[in-house]
Amino acid sequence: MHLMEILRYRPVPAAAVFFGITRRCPLHCKHCSTSSLLDSEEYPEQLFRGFAETFTAENRPEFVLMSGGEALLRPRLVQDIAELSRSVGARTHVLSGLYFAQHGGRIPPAVKRAIDAVDHFSASLDVFHEEEVPRAAVFRVLKELMAEGKNVSLQLTGTGPGDPYLADLTAEVRRVFDDQVPMLVAPVSPHGRADAWLKQAPLPQGEISPAPCAVSAWPVIGFNGQVTACGNQDVMDGKVPLPAHLYLGHIAKDDWPTIRERAIGSPMVRAIRATGPEYLMERHGSAGGCGTEGYCQTCWVLSKDPAVPAGVRRLSVEPTTRLVEERTEELLVEAGAVSFAQQYGITEYAELITLGLSGTEPAGVGSRWGAGGTARSAVGTAGSTAGSTP
Ligand code: SF4
Repeated sequence: MHLMEILRYRPVPAAAVFFGITRRCPLHCKHCSTSSLLDSEEYPEQLFRGFAETFTAENRPEFVLMSGGEALLRPRLVQDIAELSRSVGARTHVLSGLYFAQHGGRIPPAVKRAIDAVDHFSASLDVFHEEEVPRAAVFRVLKELMAEGKNVSLQLTGTGPGDPYLADLTAEVRRVFDDQVPMLVAPVSPHGRADAWLKQAPLPQGEISPAPCAVSAWPVIGFNGQVTACGNQDVMDGKVPLPAHLYLGHIAKDDWPTIRERAIGSPMVRAIRATGPEYLMERHGSAGGCGTEGYCQTCWVLSKDPAVPAGVRRLSVEPTTRLVEERTEELLVEAGAVSFAQQYGITEYAELITLGLSGTEPAGVGSRWGAGGTARSAVGTAGSTAGSTP
C-alpha cells in the first residue's frame, strides 16, 4: 500500500482512524509535538485492542493509522491491531521514530513482527531525529524492509521551503533509494517541545471566506482513549480546554460504529469540514466578525458562544447545506493527495509523496454520501498512505 492511497482518502469523513497507542518515547527530539518521554503516560493495551475488536467487515475504517509517542514500544499491540484490522478488511499504517535502530544491530524480533503485520511503514526523519538516530541507521532499516517488499515512506519536517537541511535530505533520499521512497514533508509545528523555541509567522489578516478543515475528517484516539475530531496537539494535551464540538467519545465506552456516526454526523464537525471555523464564527457568532486569533484558535471557542452551535444546527437540516458539504468533500477528493500535501505540508515538496508509485493510478475515491455503513462502501476501492502523521 503506497502512501498516496491513504492520502487520497484524507478528506473523506471516517475513512480512517488514528490510534495514539502510547505517549511514551525513548527519544528526546527537540521538536517533539507530544513532548514524549520514556515515562510519559501509557494506558492499558486492552483499551486500544478492545476498540479495534469493534471493527466489523460491514462497519470499519478503510485505514487504521498507529503512532505515539513511539508506537513500536508496544509491538505486540501494533501487531494485534493490525491483525484485527486486516481480518475485517481494513489496512494499516504505523509511524515510528526508529528508536530500535539507534545503536545499530538487527530489528528486534517483536518489532519486526509488528512491522510485518502492517500494510505500510513510515519513519520520521529530520534534523532533530538525526541527533537521536543516525540517518544511516534509518536508511539501513528502510533498505532491509524494502528488500522484503515492504511499502515504506518517510515523514520529514523542516523550517520551510528554504531549509537547506530539507534540500540535502530529500536529494539524498531520492538518490539512495532511486526515487522509490515517497516523502511527506511538513513544517515543524509549534507544539510540544517546539513550542518553547519556534517562532510563529504573523497571522495573515483579511476577509474571511470559507476555508474547509480537511484534517477534521478522521477521528483521533489520544493516548488516554479520548477520541477527538482532529489531532490538534494543544487540544490533545489539554493546553486548551477540549471544545465540546470536537469531542467524539471515549474508546472505553464507545465502539467504532458510534464514533464513526458522530464523526460523520455531528453538525459542528460537518460545518467545520465544509467552511472552516472562522467563517462559522463570522456568520453565526453573536459578537459579529471572527476576531483575529487564528484558524484553530477560533475553532476552540466556537461552542462557547451558544449562537454558533445554534446557527449551525439550524442550517444543518437544510438540503442545501448537505449539498454544500457534499460538493466540498467532492472537490477536496478531486483535488487529490498532492493538493492535500501542498496545503498541509510544505508546498514545494508536495510532489514527493508520489515517488515510488507504480503502474496505473489507484482507483478514484468516491464520496461517503449516500453510502451504507462502511467506510469502504463509502469510498470505493483504491489501488495501492499524517498523514501528519497523515
Ligand atoms: S480548525 Fe478545529 S477541527 Fe480543524 S484542525 Fe483546527 S482545531 Fe482541529
